[in-house]
Amino acid sequence: MSKTILVTGSSGFIGTNLVGLLLKQGHVVIGIDNFSSSEKWKSEIYKDNPNYYFFEVDIAEKDELDRLLGQFQKVDEIYNLACPASPPRYMNLSLETITVNTEGMMNILEIAKRYGAKVLHTSTSEIYGDPLVHPQHEDYRGNVNTIGPRSCYDEGKRISETICYEYHRLFNLDIKIVRIFNTYGPFMDPQDGRVITNFVLQALNNEDITIYGDGSQTRSFQYIDDLLDGMIRYMERDIPFQAINIGNPEEFTILELAEMVIKMTNAKSKIIFCDLPKDDPKQRKPDISKAMKLLDWRPRVRLEEGLTEIIVYYKIKYYGILV
Ligand code: UDP
Repeated sequence: MSKTILVTGSSGFIGTNLVGLLLKQGHVVIGIDNFSSSEKWKSEIYKDNPNYYFFEVDIAEKDELDRLLGQFQKVDEIYNLACPASPPRYMNLSLETITVNTEGMMNILEIAKRYGAKVLHTSTSEIYGDPLVHPQHEDYRGNVNTIGPRSCYDEGKRISETICYEYHRLFNLDIKIVRIFNTYGPFMDPQDGRVITNFVLQALNNEDITIYGDGSQTRSFQYIDDLLDGMIRYMERDIPFQAINIGNPEEFTILELAEMVIKMTNAKSKIIFCDLPKDDPKQRKPDISKAMKLLDWRPRVRLEEGLTEIIVYYKIKYYGILV
């Protein structure tokens, strides 16, 4: 059955992929974005699809948001993705990052209340901070600095989860919280400073690969298709209010990632070691047992496969190279 689905942050990396998938499934999609950390051209991609409506608006601007959405008779589901998510981006937009996760979050939940819509809110592995427990299970409460460069995002997302909890408790809203671990795929902004985009573009240009620190810190990387599968499954499940990790538990050091990218692109790049940013988590790997059990979900794309996809994507999109 066709649903009307609101996607906030629709022009970001995850939003662009999600909107495409929901339209393909035959739903009416309302996308909103203020382009604070996304590229305008992505809002144009689906403009010829009669089921797609796009509005440039900040979710923290309640009156404007209510006015634009007022023209829709129904909203069945809301995917709340609006927020800068790459470390350099949210550090540059620190106050906006806090606002979107507090005022913006409440505005979205008020809309959900009015329409009786289900909400899937995207939180993050960053709420675990620089974790002292490994891998990170949802019950782990984290090791977060309240006054550091990452705090606007980490604490912003933590309070956004609390706001979800209160709207569920007070008004019985159906809200699902997903804690997303490092994800990559097509439509990632090459300028947003993330490790996979940086390394792939550096390698394609035969430039130095910039490892921050000694490269021994770990991350586990999830391909976008696996994330979307997990998010849509969660939206469709009728399960008690809770947060669920969605990520790929295959863990790599950043040095291993750099070597893999160089090998896969046949790059002549050399690795250089730069300063490690403050509060950069030393390790990260999701415990996904909950998602496996409750959503009957597991990631399917291995890093090497996903990297092949993204290398081809950047070669075609940014270098016009046919592969
Ligand atoms: N990183 C790196 N070189 C880069 C960009 C990032 O070594 O050019 C490191 C960064 O310090 C972190 C990891 O790669 O340890 C992942 O960084 P990213 O910004 O992708 O996301 P994070 O997981 O830190 O939010």
